[in-house]
Amino acid sequence: MEQRLAFPLHKQIWNSASIAKHRFTFWLMSHNRLRTKEIVGRFQDIDNTCILCNCANETRDHLFFMCEWSKQLIELLGNWIRLEMRFFRYTNWTRWIRYGFRDKKRHQVVAAMVAAGIYNIWMERNRRIFTNQAKSPQQIFVLVKKELSYRFNGYFSIDTLNNVFIADRVQAEL
Ligand SMILES: [Zn+2]
Repeated sequence: MEQRLAFPLHKQIWNSASIAKHRFTFWLMSHNRLRTKEIVGRFQDIDNTCILCNCANETRDHLFFMCEWSKQLIELLGNWIRLEMRFFRYTNWTRWIRYGFRDKKRHQVVAAMVAAGIYNIWMERNRRIFTNQAKSPQQIFVLVKKELSYRFNGYFSIDTLNNVFIADRVQAEL
C-alpha cells in the first residue's frame, strides 16, 4: 500500500541526513533551473552534446537519469546500501523518492544519497567543461561514500541500514 507524504519533492531531500550543497543542487535540478546545455541552447548556438557520454543531447533528464556515466554512479551508490537503483526516468525517481519508503530514517538516508548523486553528476559535468579534467564513476563513488559515511555516522551506521534494506526491499512502481 503506497503511503503518500504531503511534502513537495525537494522537502523530501531537506532532512538532517543530507548535506546543504547537495540539497541546493537537488532543488535546482528538480525545478529544472540548472543551466544545462538544453537550456543555454535556447538562447545561444552551442554544441549541446552530453560531455559525460558524448552520445546524446544534454537535457536534464538525460544528464541525471539516462546518461550511462550517471547510471553507473547511481548504481554504485545503490550497491553500497544494497538497493537496486534502476529508475532511469525523472518521473520514476520522483515517485520513488516520494513514496518508496515508509520508514522515515531509511527514507531520509536514501534521499540524502540520491541528492549526493545528483550533486556529484553536476560537479563532474562542470569539471569536464570548465577544467577539462575527467573522473570515472568509480573515482567519484569513493569520494561520495567517504563524505556520506562521515555524515551518516552519528545518525546510524551503514551496516544497520543494509540489514534493514535486506529485510524490507523497496517495491517501486515502474
Ligand atoms: Zn550522457
